[in-house]
Amino acid sequence: MPTGRDLSGGSRGSSTTKKNAFCSFCRKSYRDVGPLVEGPGDVYICAECIDLCSSILDQEQKRRGSSKSLFNEIPAPREIVERMDEYVIGQEAAKKVLAVAVHNHYKRLTLGWEGSDVEIEKSNILLVGPTGSGKTLLARTLARVLNVPFAIGDATTLTEAGYVGEDVENLLLKLLHAADFDVEAAQRGVIYIDEIDKIGKTSQNVSITRDVSGEGVQQALLKMLEGTVANVPPQGGRKHPEQQYIQIDTTNILFICGGTFVGVDDIIRKRMGTQTLGFGQSAGQREDSTLTELLPNVQTDDILEFGLIPELVGRLPICTALTPLDEDGLVRVLTEPKNALVRQYESLFEMEECELSFTDQAIRRIAQKALNRGTGARGLRSIIENVMLDVMYELPDRKGSGEYVMDEEIVDGNKSLFDTHRKSA
Ligand code: ADP
Repeated sequence: MPTGRDLSGGSRGSSTTKKNAFCSFCRKSYRDVGPLVEGPGDVYICAECIDLCSSILDQEQKRRGSSKSLFNEIPAPREIVERMDEYVIGQEAAKKVLAVAVHNHYKRLTLGWEGSDVEIEKSNILLVGPTGSGKTLLARTLARVLNVPFAIGDATTLTEAGYVGEDVENLLLKLLHAADFDVEAAQRGVIYIDEIDKIGKTSQNVSITRDVSGEGVQQALLKMLEGTVANVPPQGGRKHPEQQYIQIDTTNILFICGGTFVGVDDIIRKRMGTQTLGFGQSAGQREDSTLTELLPNVQTDDILEFGLIPELVGRLPICTALTPLDEDGLVRVLTEPKNALVRQYESLFEMEECELSFTDQAIRRIAQKALNRGTGARGLRSIIENVMLDVMYELPDRKGSGEYVMDEEIVDGNKSLFDTHRKSA
């Protein structure tokens, strides 16, 4: 215990040998718990309770410290966007909305901690956007920028306890793991829940063993989004003496929910079309408007009409959209982010003391192929991995062998990367 105080004598207390004494905190006797520290006026405390008190004080100190440091550290929205730009290509509108929402969320949260009367309002966020447009990446990057724990869950795997799949509490356990079992840190973390558009709908493509639309799951999820104290079973986590469950207050956890909401563009088109009726030539939405044009206009009403249950929509007050990445966007995803795929492969080659470069045409070809797959930036990795498999298999045997150039023909499968081998000068 880092108190540094001398408890060996004086009025502060000393250990007692009275066999009939008992701990004033837990009521256990000297015989059961061993030596007790005696305070003034027949007050005693045992070693276990001293430990407990010490950890309570530690936690309190940490809480105060972290609320202060968090307050000092909350980056301004502009700074949040700049940091996100390092990892996420495009999606400017979503980044801005997220940055402001998150900045306010954490500012409110620290104001609350400082003991002010300001009520902390939950500002959970709904991200609408096609597969592979960067919804998960945005949420993950946000947590990284804010330096808070982060966990990902999938709404379709959430089930009522006892069914195959995950309990809602499991999401909190994941967050707790990410926080290295620091409950305080977990309680201000970020949880991303994917496929939120599948909840509440009896979807055909979900296994019958999973009670996706189960009332219980929805209620548990709603409570968690709103703010509740959940009992999380540590399940093989670290030992927690005296308690079977870890209590986590979800009030300040920021929930970001994402979904593709396939078909919501039709709803937006219809709404915008009818809204502009009767306003002369103020261009009603054209029939051929694309997802990229329509999605940024998404509103809560569209999500309601799509069929997400109103209670859920009500708990996601902030709604913003991501647009599909076009070919140029995919080219940028391949090359620009800090951990861009192209850079990753270049480093892998460096590790084998070889050099790899990509021609511009090769990169564009990969982007085109991904675009055709229709899974956004998700397709990029598997396309490159496919092309690279044989090479990565053999490369360690060719350590230090020289330079390789990835071109269009290799991407198309008409040539092997090894055909481009040149000894280093
Ligand atoms: P979503 O959740 O929208 O389906 P993800 O965020 O999981 O998509 O994206 C899958 C992968 O594609 C990410 O790991 C990331 O590498 C890449 N990616 C997707 N969108 C972007 C983007 N806007 N900027 C950079 N990389 C992206």
